[in-house]
Amino acid sequence: MNNCSVCSVKLKFINTPTFGAGKLNDGSVICTSCYKKINKINPSIAFKLKKHSLTDIQNLLQEKEETDSTKNEKLNEIKAEIKSLNLSNVSTFFGRKEINELPQILAENEKIDHIIQGTYNNGNGILVSTNRRLVFIDKGMIYGLKVEDFPLEKISSIQYETGLILGKVKIHTSGNIASIDNVEKASSRIFAEFVRDKLSKPKEPIAQNSQEPNVLEQLEKLGKLKDSGILTETEFSEQKAKLLEKL
Ligand SMILES: [Zn+2]
Repeated sequence: MNNCSVCSVKLKFINTPTFGAGKLNDGSVICTSCYKKINKINPSIAFKLKKHSLTDIQNLLQEKEETDSTKNEKLNEIKAEIKSLNLSNVSTFFGRKEINELPQILAENEKIDHIIQGTYNNGNGILVSTNRRLVFIDKGMIYGLKVEDFPLEKISSIQYETGLILGKVKIHTSGNIASIDNVEKASSRIFAEFVRDKLSKPKEPIAQNSQEPNVLEQLEKLGKLKDSGILTETEFSEQKAKLLEKL
């Protein structure tokens, strides 16, 4: 009996893929558990294992391990970030499947500032507020992953309604209202007020506006340079014209 060429486990009848399905193009054989791993990463490679070399397979598994560990690292960072928000019911989030999807959903430099749980379009999930958007994430058993984006610049207002126990958060975008239902009562108010506050804060000044005082300062400097004789009248006029174009 041989050993698995990938993980070196002793190959027995019980852990050898049937019908020679675990054979590679150099005749070496892999075990059922390695076969299953490959099948999960890329079924078409697993199906035609005989066409691939041991190096191909080792690289495939290595790459998978690397992406998994990067994802894990990012997930841990995200979890730490969520913990630091000091939300009242934060411990209940970590049991949710949606949290594990965040590394793939969030962009680089996208920061979470609030989360609530609720239902939207009959799906049970989480509504995450970040520096760019609100995003509802629902990892269902049957339908898989559903993600709906509400970019901050498209949100015209946000409201909440509360009943005896539960509340709703209503996100108004141009012509649409998305209602996140079955939110814990206090959380619906706190979340809506948080996002409303964020929306009311002035946006960062756009580049052109922030240049204006700069141009004025430069004009002043230019004037001084002319006065002190460093620039000639012609040079001064030329530079001045250029600066004024920017205004
Ligand atoms: Zn193996």
